[in-house]
Amino acid sequence: MYDPIIVGAGPCGLSAAIEAKKRGMNPLVIEKGCLVNSIYHFPTNMQFFSTPELLEIGGIPFVTAGEKPVRTEALNYYRAVTKKYALKVHTYEKVIRAEKTEDGFSVFTETRDGGENRYQAPHLVIATGYYDNPNRMDIPGEDLPKVHHYFREAHPYADMEVLVIGGKNSAVEAALELHRVGARVTMAYRRGAFTESVKAWVKPVIESAINKGWVRMYWNTEVKEIHPDYVVLEQEGRAFTLPNDVVFAMTGYRPDFSILQRLGVSIDPETGAPVHDPDTMETDVPGLYIAGVIAAGHDANSIFIENGRFHGERIAQHLEAGQSSKGNPY
Ligand code: FAD
Ligand code: NAP
Repeated sequence: MYDPIIVGAGPCGLSAAIEAKKRGMNPLVIEKGCLVNSIYHFPTNMQFFSTPELLEIGGIPFVTAGEKPVRTEALNYYRAVTKKYALKVHTYEKVIRAEKTEDGFSVFTETRDGGENRYQAPHLVIATGYYDNPNRMDIPGEDLPKVHHYFREAHPYADMEVLVIGGKNSAVEAALELHRVGARVTMAYRRGAFTESVKAWVKPVIESAINKGWVRMYWNTEVKEIHPDYVVLEQEGRAFTLPNDVVFAMTGYRPDFSILQRLGVSIDPETGAPVHDPDTMETDVPGLYIAGVIAAGHDANSIFIENGRFHGERIAQHLEAGQSSKGNPY
């Protein structure tokens, strides 16, 4: 029998599997895409903000060519760690729902070929991240095919009218990369200036591009409507239109709690996070744990690889001590 079942093969789910395995347990990771699926879908040419040692799991050194890892190095690293620990990972299998049973949890999945599986385990760890769930603007035209909540590469948009929505790191990096290939880039940001969240080495570059007129910036501006060949913006009560070919809505991401909520986990109305004990990561449903970004609430960016990678160790320690379902404080 597998114990625990871990949903999601991101860095935090893999870390939980490693820590369980180190303690003699038999974990199974179920992943709807490829290994570290979110990182695979990050911008192709991105460089992490974190230095490599802060992304390490399982005590395996992460060595990179430069000061910070690029996406491909991270893919190679997490693949190597998975192999080193001989983790059992079922990729391309999506967890549809889970149920609490007398002796643990039933987990129902759908495989790539449309088949269905059911697994049983005494303990369940949800580590599904947030990258599948972009913050929506809920404006007309948001679902047009030219609107993207993910940026991969700039090349296809050379010589096009591109609108980038948002003013944090993804928006700024996308705007700069698009400008470099010759796209005509406009940014619309609801604030009047960039905040300290924009990394110190990126901020002067975008500010300079704006000052030189290479990137057109609309501060204090909201996007009201998106149409096939134009957008409607509103700046301080004044609405106007701009010609437009493509929109990158870099509005961030938030965890989807639906699997947890259906299992009976409460959401803390103040923090917006699933109710859990931060020392063990067990939720208010005994035997059900969370790891990684799924544990974040309203401030979805408060948990990232650097800190979420340690959740697995807390979970495994709690399981090893056999405390689950006995000393549950709720
Ligand atoms: P994820 O990595 O998102 O993994 C969750 C996994 O669960 C995914 O593989 C997903 O496919 C899978 N999944 C989801 N639903 C299901 C389901 N129903 N069934 C089966 N599988 C499912 N953090 C840092 O510390 N340093 C950085 O430099 C950094 N750079 C970043 C750059 C970008 C562009 C972005 C967007 C984020 C960055 N972050 C960084 C944040 C970091 O990537 C995330 O915090 C991290 O991926 C969280 O890990 P996780 O394991 O919790 O979730
Ligand atoms: P983010 O930090 O959550 O920023 C989202 C942006 O969209 C913010 O500017 C926000 O405005 C705006 N926004 C949110 N909802 C909106 C709405 N409904 N309408 C209009 N604007 C809206 O998301 P992100 O930039 O994608 O970053 C996500 C995570 O990835 C962060 O942890 C970040 O550090 C990381 N990241 C890392 C790298 C890298 O390592 N190279 C690159 C990019 C991102 P406000 O500013 O007003 O909140």
